Amino acid sequence: MSDTRQQALDELHQQLQTCRLCLEAGYDIYPRAIFSGQLGARLMVIGQAPGITEKEAGRPFNAGSGSRLFRWLAEAGVEEGWFRSTQYMTSVTKCYPGRARSGSGDRVPSPAEQRLCRQYLEAEIALLNPALILPGGRLTIGLFYPLGQPLDEIIGTQKQVDGRWVVPLPHPSGASRWHQSAENRERVRQAVTLIATHVNGMFNP
Ligand code: SF4
Repeated sequence: MSDTRQQALDELHQQLQTCRLCLEAGYDIYPRAIFSGQLGARLMVIGQAPGITEKEAGRPFNAGSGSRLFRWLAEAGVEEGWFRSTQYMTSVTKCYPGRARSGSGDRVPSPAEQRLCRQYLEAEIALLNPALILPGGRLTIGLFYPLGQPLDEIIGTQKQVDGRWVVPLPHPSGASRWHQSAENRERVRQAVTLIATHVNGMFNP
């Protein structure tokens, strides 16, 4: 059974590595899917899309966004090396979407690109069957919470979706200012406490 799932995951990763759907649809993306992890992962982090530093390093949550994400996870008792080598990291769209038109920061993938890539995220979730999903940022949180609901009402909460726990986090990018206020830092602290409780239950029962 696990051999079959391993084969299915290998095939999915191969499909991702050769996918050119967004290019064929006319989007000027850099066609190299960025994700990491393997079967057996109980935790899945889902970001928006790789940024320029992820594209250059070829690994998810590199540099600024990674250091903030792993600072939060460390506060929940999750060590970066362990997480990177045993758990799963992916994003709503897997290829670097390029710079924003304004020239400041990376472009947010369009709804059409999100739709094109959605099949892969759904397959990853179905195959990995994670017990806890951590969506980072508004675009990813919108997969699990009503669109338009303010982050202030979401961060620090959790919900069950299809039998798994979802604990949302703000976008960990250094460009995001959301988590700078004392109120929002407290909301992130509540989210970290929820993650710690799940992790303790899963790995130190
Ligand atoms: S972002 Fe997703 S759908 Fe688009 S080319 Fe990359 S892997 Fe394919």
